[in-house]
Formats: sequence, structure tokens, C-alpha cells
Amino acid sequence: MPTFTEIGLPEPVLRSLADCGYVNPTPIQEQAIPVVLSGRDLIGAAQTGTGKTAAFALPTLARLGPAAGKPRCLVLVPTRELAVQVDENFQKYGKYLGTKTALLYGGVGYGIQVKALEQGVDVVIATPGRLLDLQEQKILDLSSIQVLILDEVDRMLDMGFIEDVTRIIRFCPKERQTLLFSATADERVGKIASWALRDPVTVDVRTGLGAADTVDHAIYPVDVFQKYDLLLALLNKSGYKSVIVFTRTKRDADRIAEWIEGHGTPVATMHADRSQSERAAALAGFKTGKFTVMVATDIASRGLDIRGVTHVINYNVPEHAEDYVHRIGRTGRASAEGEAFTLYSPDEMHHLQQIEVLLGRPIERRKLEGFRYYSEPQLTPGGPKAAAVSRKRNR
Ligand code: AMP
Repeated sequence: MPTFTEIGLPEPVLRSLADCGYVNPTPIQEQAIPVVLSGRDLIGAAQTGTGKTAAFALPTLARLGPAAGKPRCLVLVPTRELAVQVDENFQKYGKYLGTKTALLYGGVGYGIQVKALEQGVDVVIATPGRLLDLQEQKILDLSSIQVLILDEVDRMLDMGFIEDVTRIIRFCPKERQTLLFSATADERVGKIASWALRDPVTVDVRTGLGAADTVDHAIYPVDVFQKYDLLLALLNKSGYKSVIVFTRTKRDADRIAEWIEGHGTPVATMHADRSQSERAAALAGFKTGKFTVMVATDIASRGLDIRGVTHVINYNVPEHAEDYVHRIGRTGRASAEGEAFTLYSPDEMHHLQQIEVLLGRPIERRKLEGFRYYSEPQLTPGGPKAAAVSRKRNR
């Protein structure tokens, strides 16, 4: 495995890596950094938790070199939380280059963002709406962009940003380097890649479960009306230090948060109806350990890098199979061990089957010992038919 020095990163960047304590590049870094350093366009197929942020930030900083005070790199991301994280990475890795960043996202005032731009920045990290807003007001000029990074493109498309993203790409100079990262490589992503990128190199580090390989994950079948009780029982039994409970809807998130709080545990809640300051407070409280439980919709399932999450519990089976991988990827980050449990009721069979198809194998079914189930949980994958077949065989 080559070292960061052998990959060709310059001294000021290497020094920042030493500060971070990184010893070896991760697979996406090993493969993507030389491509980016060479100036070529790149499609990176990688989930979060693989070190993909550094895979694009390190070589980009190396190419930009010392601070020059005009926006030369634009990173587009789907959510505010991811924007904050990417910004932190650029600041950390660009420390010895004096790199200046601007963080632009909606839901907050313009003052600080405008001021940052006026003072001169090298890297702009933005969500699409606010970026267009500032561009239209002529506060931000994209004509000096040399490197355009589209992070979590699949997520941006899921969130309906296609038109905004397309417009932003058109505002950037034609002569540029473009890096596109996505956890899925579907037709929509391919379409953007085909017109926005020039002769790209593809680096794919997705391997089945990818980042989630270190996660012990299981399905807990249960009748839908017993889900609240089983959730509490799992929380009580799991010996968690830090747990994220994922729900499908904002309403579920609020109700479950109330339910858990009603049983004596303070909870942080993250969903799109909460204000930016509420979300920031929830996330900060969860990261510092003030809250040991966070209840969240999928807004928190991608990209967020929260250290030390010991457990993920899915209150519902995610509707999109990819979301399962993202959600359970919140634990077991950077090779730490984690556990992920999914409460599953028979009406969710279709979603579960899709996840198992994506993973290429069934997920283990478990029964929580000591929990009073109203009806015996079905521990055989494949629904009632398959269970009947297996019972017959066992006779
Ligand atoms: P990401 O996939 O970009 O969200 O990164 C996941 C986590 O891995 C972050 O906490 C990074 O700080 C960390 N990380 C990135 N690259 C390395 C590396 N080469 N060695 C150790 N940790 C890393």
C-alpha cells in the first residue's frame, strides 16, 4: 500500500495529515488521489465512511496550492450538515496552505456568508439553493472556478436538486476539473456525468456492504403494534453508548422521541421540519454526549460523520435499499465495531427483500430474549411461503 507521500501529496498537506493521525490512505484515497492530482475528471463510487471527503479534498488542495483569495474550487453538497462537515475537512487539511473557505447554505442569515465571500476565499462549499441565490445577487462569481466537486450526487437528485445542479454546472467555466461522487451509479447520475465530465476515470470502492462490513446487523421481526415496546426493550438491552434511531417520517420521529423521553432518556431529534438552529443544537448535543439517543429521518443517514455511534436502530425498514446501507453506515465508522438493528413488521416484506437483493444475502433474523411477543416472530427469511417450506422440511 503506498503512503500519502508516495501518492504525491505536497508537504503542507502531509503535515496536516500527520496532525490528524492518518497513517495510510483508505482504498478510495489510494485510487482517487493520483487521478485528481493528474488533473483528470473523476467519478468516485463510494459510500460515506470510506474517507471520500479526504479523497477529493487532499489532492484538490494540493493542486490549488497556497491561498489566492478567489473562489477556485466549488463543492456542491445536498445538505447543510454535510456542508459543515466538508468545510471542516477543507479547513483541517488546508491549515498549512492558509486555505480560506466559505460555507453557504440556506435557512440562516446572509451576513456571515456574504462577509466570508467579500474577504476572499479559495474554496466554496455550498448547498444548491443558497449558492444560486448568492450567484444571482452577484455576490458570488463562479468564473474563477477551476475544480468543481459534486458530492453525493445521488442524494442531490433524490432531493429534487437536478435543475439547480444543472444550472450551477453551466455557470462554472468550461475549462475545469470535475469530480463527481455518488454512492449509487444509476441512470440519472450517469446522465449528469456524461455531459458535466470530460473523459472521466471511474473509481469504484463499493463492495456489497462497503463501509458497513464492520457492523453486526440484524432484523427483529415484530408485529407493528409492538414496535414501540420492542424499541425500548432493545435500547435497554443493547448497552449502547450512543444510538441513532431512524424513522421513515418526521411524525414518527417526533412521536418516538416523545416516547423515549417519556421513559426517562433525553433525546436529540433531527428532521427537515426542525429549524437550522434546532438541528445544529441536536447534532452538537449528540456529538458531545449530552444526548445518548438521536431520533432522525434519513436527513441524517448520509454523509454525517459522527464518531462513536455504537448502535443504529431502524424503527422502519428503509424504503430505499441504499438507505439501509447508509443508515447502518452511521455506526462502525473508520473500522470501529457497531451494531445495527431493524424492526421489521410483515407489511415491510417488500422493502426488506430489496435490501437483501442489494446485499446479495439474507440478513440474520433475531428474537429478543425476555421480550413478551404477542405472536411468535418469524425468523426465516423470505416471508410466510418460504417459512412454510422450511417448516415442512424440518419435520
Ligand atoms: P468520510 O467517508 O469522508 O466521511 O470519512 C470517514 C472518516 O474517516 C472521517 O472521520 C475521516 O476523518 C476519517 N478518515 C479519512 N481518511 C482517513 C485515513 N486515511 N485514515 C484514518 N481515518 C481517515
